[in-house]
Amino acid sequence: MTTTYDAIIIGAGHNGLVTAAYLAKAGYKVLVLERRDIIGGCCITEELWPGFKVSTAAYVNSLLRPEIIRDLELKKYGFEMLPRSPSSFSPFPDGRYLMMGPDKDMTRKEIAKFSTKDAENYPKYEDMLTKVADFLEPLLTKTPPDPFGGLGSLWKLGGIGWKFRKLGREVGSQAVEILTGAARPILDRWFESEELKATIATDAVIGAFAPPSHPGTAYVLFHHVMGECNGVRGVWGYVRGGMGMVSKSIADAAKSHGAEIRTNADVGKILVKDGRVQGVALKDGTEFHARLVASGADANVTFLKLMDAKDLPADFVAAVKRIDYSSATVKINVAVDRPPNFKALPSEGVGLQHHGTMHICPDQDYIERAYDDAKYGRWARDPMLECTMATALDNTLAPPGKHILSMFVQYAPYHLKGTTWDAEKDKFADRCFDILEEYAPGFKSSVLHRMVIPPPDMERLWGITGGNIMQGSMSLSSMFSFRPVAGYANYRTPVKGLYLCGAASHPGGGVMGACGLNAAREMLKDG
Ligand SMILES: Cc1cc2nc3c(=O)[nH]c(=O)nc-3n(C[C@H](O)[C@H](O)[C@H](O)COP(=O)(O)OP(=O)(O)OC[C@H]3O[C@@H](n4cnc5c(N)ncnc54)[C@H](O)[C@@H]3O)c2cc1C
Repeated sequence: MTTTYDAIIIGAGHNGLVTAAYLAKAGYKVLVLERRDIIGGCCITEELWPGFKVSTAAYVNSLLRPEIIRDLELKKYGFEMLPRSPSSFSPFPDGRYLMMGPDKDMTRKEIAKFSTKDAENYPKYEDMLTKVADFLEPLLTKTPPDPFGGLGSLWKLGGIGWKFRKLGREVGSQAVEILTGAARPILDRWFESEELKATIATDAVIGAFAPPSHPGTAYVLFHHVMGECNGVRGVWGYVRGGMGMVSKSIADAAKSHGAEIRTNADVGKILVKDGRVQGVALKDGTEFHARLVASGADANVTFLKLMDAKDLPADFVAAVKRIDYSSATVKINVAVDRPPNFKALPSEGVGLQHHGTMHICPDQDYIERAYDDAKYGRWARDPMLECTMATALDNTLAPPGKHILSMFVQYAPYHLKGTTWDAEKDKFADRCFDILEEYAPGFKSSVLHRMVIPPPDMERLWGITGGNIMQGSMSLSSMFSFRPVAGYANYRTPVKGLYLCGAASHPGGGVMGACGLNAAREMLKDG
């Protein structure tokens, strides 16, 4: 059995698999080592209960880079997107509801139920976001320059500045606000209907331990106009067979180019000699050697758990220790014997209201209050629920007539004051179910199974520090040239031959594959 490779990838998350596939395609001898018995990291499908195939963590896609789908021929390996239309449904306590887009005419009519002024403004708001996204999207697959680096970096920064100038003063100022500001004041300026603002605001805080009034939350707003589904911009979709099919199709592409993927292979140590990487050692002591090693695990795991501090500069270790891994997200996966029947829009079986994200969040103050609870170390008594039911569009996931409901819930902190998640998680899930029951009577009696995953369980299951779903906060101070830390945003690390290739690097979390793609490009440059 050979133990020497050109490149070893730690972790078979979708990003690590992308790196492996591109390196293998370029003729490198590649080994991927995954600690779990399943590949995919946070992008997986698991048969949690007989007949129910669940996207246990990530649940919707639009961000996966089209060039990766094309270069790796993912469709040949079973990758298929199922676009969602409508993309969201928000029922409200007064019995009204708001359904939104990609169908622009339907969206305009829906918003007009709440405010004709907002219905007129919404396309203008989308245009503004699209202009900002047009500027930002190409940066996703670029290696960030180092603002403290040499002339080459400054030249690249100048190029970005030049493109930014082209936005013009008005859109340029709006772009800066979106990159640095809070979602709430922006939404309050554009719109008057609280129902519309609450629906959009939920997207702004997704995965963040911050309410819409906090700086940094506006950045996520433009995610809904970025990305694409089958070539249509801004459309989010389900992946047929669940999110695991993203990872499986990338893994199959990597294997077709000769990459070797091993599961149950828990890396315990990154081997370093004289400032150069040598390979890795599994926890059972088995060693594998390579001149290049890329880690898809987060920066805390890679540098503080798998390495000796003596192999890294002290200021680098200190910067890694400052990364924000706070999280306030709980995922509840539920199997049901019928779709939720909403009071606001009753249906026999599956209706349009089940196709997209079902937002349970009446207004922005509701989100703020939910955050306040978590801020003080309690789970939110009235949490914001984002429910999706992929089985509305995908009949491969559950037995006929049965469904999978994914509940992405905020806010609930990693550390609970005076108690533990083991003691609290069922109480929290019961509260979430009570809330959905108010909007969709009969929901509770439809539940067949449930799996509740608070932040510490996310950390245990997926190896993500603090349960942070993005491998580290996506605030401006941790983005672009500052991800994972200043001076190391080019996928390289202080150790020669060692790279980061997962969401800990630019452009961060989400099923984009861009981190893996960019890392592979830099590794190929270094050879
Ligand atoms: C609950 C949840 C919901 C989400 N929802 C969405 C969504 O709907 N849409 C979206 O676009 N994004 C979503 N995200 C974010 C997205 O899933 C992640 O940002 C993305 O999957 C990260 O991929 P990655 O390959 O960079 O890292 P990861 O998926 O974290 O993969 C890292 C891999 O490394 C492995 N590993 C770690 N340490 C070791 C070791 N010592 N030895 C060997 N292997 C190791 C891990 O087991 C894991 O497989 C969600 C995330 C979570 C947790």
